[in-house]
Amino acid sequence: MANSFDEECDYLFKAVLIGDSAVGKSNLLSRFARDEFSLDSKPTIGVEFAYRNIRVGDKIIKAQIWDTAGQERFRAITSSYYRGALGALLVYDITRKSTFESVRKWLRELREYASPEMVVVLVGNKSDLGQSREVNLEDGHSLAQLENLSFMETSAKENMNVEEAFLRMITRIYELTCHKSL
Ligand code: GDP
Repeated sequence: MANSFDEECDYLFKAVLIGDSAVGKSNLLSRFARDEFSLDSKPTIGVEFAYRNIRVGDKIIKAQIWDTAGQERFRAITSSYYRGALGALLVYDITRKSTFESVRKWLRELREYASPEMVVVLVGNKSDLGQSREVNLEDGHSLAQLENLSFMETSAKENMNVEEAFLRMITRIYELTCHKSL
């Protein structure tokens, strides 16, 4: 599935990770890009991104995924972060209701800065912590349905559904933007 970084690609997509602090964005990205999980929350300030090549049919797509790397705490994510982005994983933590309540705030920000065609996948992360759950699976589903988003629960820690969430976003972007012109 993953190809070498240098392999020639047919398409390059930019996508972003958004959501409150400490919901697991960095760990989702490192799982997807490098298959790593880290127990420390990373205090880095700035924007980071990672690439991964994905094969969809006979095409190679290079996904460039941007992570806020702590900026979300300062509400300093602005238009340059979203510029050119075709997709977003909007992440909340199933063990912290406040992060789910923030989803609407993130959607408002997307409406302000991002393209209206952006593919958004709502992600309820930390599904391995079911005993501390504050947000039901059904609540995630309902909100996604209401806002016309894709939805998945993931665990970056146990590598559950991480690949699926990113692939769903990337495949959808591909269908919307490239497929027609093939
Ligand atoms: P970010 O601020 O949204 O980028 O969040 P991080 O990726 O830095 O993760 C914040 C904290 O949550 C760290 O201590 C991670 O180890 C932990 N974490 C992230 N994803 C998961 C998960 O799926 N399950 C569990 N149990 N912990 C997680």
